[in-house]
Amino acid sequence: MLVNVLTGFLSNHLDWAGIGLFLAVACLGVRGRKKHHKTAEKLLKKSIDTQMNEPLTLHPEVNPALCAGCGACTKVCPEGDILKLIGHQAVLVSPSKCVGHGECELACPTHAITLVFGTKTRGMDIPRINTNYETNVPGLYIAGELGGMGLIRNAVKQGALAANHAVKNLTNVKAEYDLVIIGGGPAGLSASLEAISQRKNYLCLEQNSLGGTVYNFPRQKIVMTAPTILPIVGQMKFKDNKVSKEELLDAWDNVRRKTGLRVEEKVRFDNLEQVGNLFKIKTSRGEVTARKVILALGVRGSPRKLGLPNEDLPKVTYNLIDPEQYQQRNIVVVGGGNAGVEAAQMLGDSKWRNQVTLLVRGPQFDRCNDENKKIITEMATRRQVQIWFNSNVQEIHPDRLLIRNEGQDKTLDNDFLFIFAGAELPSKMLMSLGIQIDKKFGEALKSKTG
Ligand SMILES: Cc1cc2nc3c(=O)[nH]c(=O)nc-3n(C[C@H](O)[C@H](O)[C@H](O)COP(=O)(O)OP(=O)(O)OC[C@H]3O[C@@H](n4cnc5c(N)ncnc54)[C@H](O)[C@@H]3O)c2cc1C
Repeated sequence: MLVNVLTGFLSNHLDWAGIGLFLAVACLGVRGRKKHHKTAEKLLKKSIDTQMNEPLTLHPEVNPALCAGCGACTKVCPEGDILKLIGHQAVLVSPSKCVGHGECELACPTHAITLVFGTKTRGMDIPRINTNYETNVPGLYIAGELGGMGLIRNAVKQGALAANHAVKNLTNVKAEYDLVIIGGGPAGLSASLEAISQRKNYLCLEQNSLGGTVYNFPRQKIVMTAPTILPIVGQMKFKDNKVSKEELLDAWDNVRRKTGLRVEEKVRFDNLEQVGNLFKIKTSRGEVTARKVILALGVRGSPRKLGLPNEDLPKVTYNLIDPEQYQQRNIVVVGGGNAGVEAAQMLGDSKWRNQVTLLVRGPQFDRCNDENKKIITEMATRRQVQIWFNSNVQEIHPDRLLIRNEGQDKTLDNDFLFIFAGAELPSKMLMSLGIQIDKKFGEALKSKTG
């Protein structure tokens, strides 16, 4: 009927060839949508069946009343098929793969998407910070992953905003520094550059080396990062938003040279005390005083553990820096997310001749991106790694592991155990500084990510 009306209307305006072309395009469009919906329903069902339908971190929440079903949000996610259209509504079909890029929120023309922490059933601990990244302790800020949002781009943005607010609201109290920044990762780097650009007296402390978590990435790891804007430097952009760890660290080192950025490396922050408006910061090199402080500590200092006896054995580790160190070894990697899968790929490289077993808790990969999934699956086909789904470590012994695999107990010879189960908020430490921790059940971010 609709086709007849349309055909009648168009025949008065177009010739038959034009009508044919119009109908063909319309049919293709309808078919494309149908296919999209089918894939979306499949993905959603898979997430529910495998109990991977709970987002782990910051994620989009779609307001159905505002969603126009245009699909703009489905095309922009760097992680792939996370949001899709079902019945002309955007739906989070692969929640556990979402890492909180926030591109969907920016792409939505009707503002139907809000980024939220936690869900109604699964709370997420987040330190209390306001839109300027200041905590409930006046003058004490949190920037970067410690505030609950991962990704380099977010850390860079937050570091600059926090520092800008801090140095523009300095008190008159006498102190050695206007601003002390703790942590030399992307958040601390960007905060320090902002302090330089505002000509303020700052100190950046880092217990290891400039670069933060990126410094501890495995050698030659490809880092995915959207263009970031660093104070003084401007936009940093890499081809296809991909860059190796070494290139990224080199770029930051260049920034350090060009801007005169100072990071005091190998200095550990231990504690701080606020006396009136003055912060007394205790470090492994003694005490310094500051008018404002930014905590840009990240969360990698508190990796999530399995909680098993013997987990403190030296063979158990929570990151992989140099795969070359491990050759002809029996290795188990725990974790089906990107970090675990990438570690298994590197350790399973045939030139090291390791026996690598990757343990995935669920029945399939649902927390790593499609590229990583493809690579590791191909490696398993070539027998470079073995993948055990529905598996977890039961017991850790110096020379072996007891593993529950598909409901059966199995023993594996083992020299090294790598655990990639994410990281936890160092709540105790933050609370000892007076910072309040809130459990968020699907609450919106106060500031935008873009
Ligand atoms: C394996 C892995 C892969 C990742 N891949 C990507 C990716 O491809 N793209 C992306 O955008 N993000 C990626 N991320 C996330 C990204 O690395 C983080 O979100 C980002 O580094 C957070 O920056 P940050 O400055 O907040 O914290 P961090 O980078 O963690 O830096 C915090 C710094 O604080 C220092 N510090 C901590 N405690 C103290 C103390 N007491 N005293 C002094 N210094 C201290 C630490 O040594 C560290 O250098 C990945 C993370 C991991 C673990």
